[in-house]
Amino acid sequence: MTEHNPTPKKMLIGGEWVEALGGERFDIVTPIDRNQVIGSAPRAREADADRAVAAARAAFPAWAALHFTERQKMLLKIADALEADAENLAQLTALDTGNALRTQARPECKVLVDLFRYFGGIAGEVKGTTLPAGDNQLNYTRRQPLGVVAGILPWNSPLMIAGFKTPAALAAGNTMILKAAEDAPLTVIRMVEICEQFLPAGVLNLVTGYGQEIGEALVQHQGVDKVSFTGSTLVGRHVASVAGARLAHSSMELGGKSPSIVFPDSCTDDVVDQVLLATRFARQGQSCTSGSRLFLHKDIYEDFVNRLVKKVSALKVGDPRDEATDIGAVINKKQYDRIADYIAEGKAEAGVEIAYDGAESLDVGEPGFFHAPVILSRVKNDWRIAQEEIFGPVLSVIPWETEDEVVEMANDSHYGLAAFVFSKNIDAALKTAHRIDSGWVQVNQGGGQVVGQAYGGFKTSGIGREVSLEGMLEGFTQIKQINVKLG
Ligand code: NAD
Repeated sequence: MTEHNPTPKKMLIGGEWVEALGGERFDIVTPIDRNQVIGSAPRAREADADRAVAAARAAFPAWAALHFTERQKMLLKIADALEADAENLAQLTALDTGNALRTQARPECKVLVDLFRYFGGIAGEVKGTTLPAGDNQLNYTRRQPLGVVAGILPWNSPLMIAGFKTPAALAAGNTMILKAAEDAPLTVIRMVEICEQFLPAGVLNLVTGYGQEIGEALVQHQGVDKVSFTGSTLVGRHVASVAGARLAHSSMELGGKSPSIVFPDSCTDDVVDQVLLATRFARQGQSCTSGSRLFLHKDIYEDFVNRLVKKVSALKVGDPRDEATDIGAVINKKQYDRIADYIAEGKAEAGVEIAYDGAESLDVGEPGFFHAPVILSRVKNDWRIAQEEIFGPVLSVIPWETEDEVVEMANDSHYGLAAFVFSKNIDAALKTAHRIDSGWVQVNQGGGQVVGQAYGGFKTSGIGREVSLEGMLEGFTQIKQINVKLG
């Protein structure tokens, strides 16, 4: 692989790029090559949380008091600057996360730019209401920012998730501390380098380090008014309980095990393409909204599986920076081994059919963490591979006969993030979409996320919304009621 200059990175606190107070650092290793250090970053701890919170608190009053058009101008300038740096950000994403440049890293950067533009554009929508309280009283509400928001990020698509939080929180008048994931901090550092050129000192701060150290310190900190967390359900449950115990605001974007349901009228190559998109194989399955359980009607079962296998076998697994690559590298050894364990367990289940195992023809030429897609057929919905989030390119295919049966199986999961329904009969598709217990249901498509749409989970996939206009209001503001006696 090409060499990368392993520049030591710093954290941004109060407008200064700083080391951790303890002077410790950690190495950043690319998943493309298990041994190659591509940088290092400060290992922040509790004292650094104090510093970052103090900086964000100090910047808050002036930022919140700014006319919204001023915040808007800055966010729009950031969007332009991120757009100008998009190719560089995409290349860095490929190196940092293992996400393939063409299929994943570039689209992620585009979403980041779009989100800054979207929330910059709607910064003036942080509005209150008035009540018809008679001639003797003026009765109105104001929407005010919460204060300091800690945004805790995962590694799977760091820029996109940073984009889900940062512009919305800032547009609403909050100041922020971003905590980058220890496995992929480089792109978020680069994003913050760009943002800070347009923002007053302390408005956006960035810390790096481990979840149990700096992450935990931020969640516990009395000076953090809101914890905006994206990550696993396991960690999210803990973070929510710690934030909840001190009555801080919080929102949780967590894991998923999303169903794709295909009706018997939809055995076409177009639908196969959309189902494939929904699997998020092009992101190594490392997507919270991955359609990782595929429910196929029994009448089209074999035909659909055959068409899907044909398309999946044409996908190229390889160096994520290569334009020809469809599927890049899995983030680290822990995830690589975890996925391998699930694959081994799935293959050993009684009655399972291995419809496709890409490992047999995997030839990457890099020593990184590469998993080829695996499609396991005739899976039972209660097996672990169909119940737990694998976060790898592993698809469980399950047959169904009646609509009631498939809805029951789809909902038989403690997750409820996304779902995909495919039918030419729009009545049947919508009826099913309405019955699925998920926060985001797509009909007849596998991609299609639009900036500004509602986004968030049901059940253990999360609490709270942040990404839409309503999400910004719900997630990053609080209501103050004002009653004024007139006359
Ligand atoms: P993770 O839960 O291990 O870590 C997420 C972040 O939390 C990291 O920055 C980590 O350092 C930090 N953290 C860990 N322990 C902490 C603690 N005690 N206190 C505070 N912070 C702590 O998740 P991950 O492995 O980085 O990401 C993968 C998971 O994220 C998957 O489950 C995926 O489904 C989920 N995810 C969800 C969404 C969504 O929008 N719902 C989006 C992306 C990823």
